Amino acid sequence: TKSGGRHGYRFYEAEMDEIIEARRLLTADLRGALDRNEFLLHFQPLVDAKDSCTRGFEALLRWKHPTRGFVSPAEFIPLAEETGVIIPLGEWIIREACRIAATWPPRISIAVNLSPIQLRHSDVPAVVRTALGESGLDAGRLEIEITESVFLEATPATLVALTKLREMRLRLSLDDFGTGYSSLSYLRRASFDKIKIDQSFVRDLPCETSNLAIIRAIVDMATSLGMTIIAEGVETEAQRVCLLQQGCHQFQGYLFSKPLPAEEAAALIAAPPRR
Ligand code: C2E
Ligand code: CA
Ligand code: CA
Ligand code: CA
Repeated sequence: TKSGGRHGYRFYEAEMDEIIEARRLLTADLRGALDRNEFLLHFQPLVDAKDSCTRGFEALLRWKHPTRGFVSPAEFIPLAEETGVIIPLGEWIIREACRIAATWPPRISIAVNLSPIQLRHSDVPAVVRTALGESGLDAGRLEIEITESVFLEATPATLVALTKLREMRLRLSLDDFGTGYSSLSYLRRASFDKIKIDQSFVRDLPCETSNLAIIRAIVDMATSLGMTIIAEGVETEAQRVCLLQQGCHQFQGYLFSKPLPAEEAAALIAAPPRR
């Protein structure tokens, strides 16, 4: 900046160098992390809006870095996408999620996040077929979460892959709905079963009336298309009541549970908490 003068600028430059160096180091670590078994999945309950019973779990990736401890997926997933690490990593996520979900009762489903890069550059239907085969998990229990950004650079191959997944009886869930580029025509063409209302709309409920108007519009549209509606990031009882009134079918958020290690998820299924 002008007021900072030359020194201010230099400071900025030095800081940028540090950020770039930190990213370079993290990227180098990321490449070997899969072989070193540093990744694991946590599982967050998706609960029924009416009775708060667990209907399924979302698998959320965790990286236990040897010196830095847990690194946030928000930090390393973009690096994994840039470097292509997301391809083998994404395959591992699908297989690991299916392996663990197969140990749960058949009424419990599993939702797995898919990167747009993964969908574009790897044969996801083949990976899923292998994962289902080796785990014995029924395809009807597997839900695939993708964000709207998938459609930003959707190639014909992307739509073919989504169609194949549908033909395999998987369910498709549109993640972070409302935050990005929403093409209603893609919504219909890829025939999503479920829509996840982004937590940014939930955060300021029930006071923020503009968010409420958006949620109402999303619920109306999704209901008329026959989709299941889930709200994520539900943290308070007031938000739960408000979203229930709006007609959401499922909830996910800290009000019910944070993401849990596999053993704790299994324990929760066996002995659900009373609410
Ligand atoms: P997402 O798919 O939207 O996942 C929801 C995020 O919200 C998770 O963060 C979850 O821990 C967090 N969350 C859940 N309940 C609440 C709540 O009540 N309040 C708040 N403030 N947050 C809540 P997490 O685990 O850090 O993951 C961040 C993002 O990283 C995910 O956003 C997803 O985009 C990406 N990600 C995570 N796991 C995977 C994966 O296996 N594959 C891919 N491709 N992306 C993943
Ligand atoms: Ca998700
Ligand atoms: Ca989300
Ligand atoms: Ca998100």
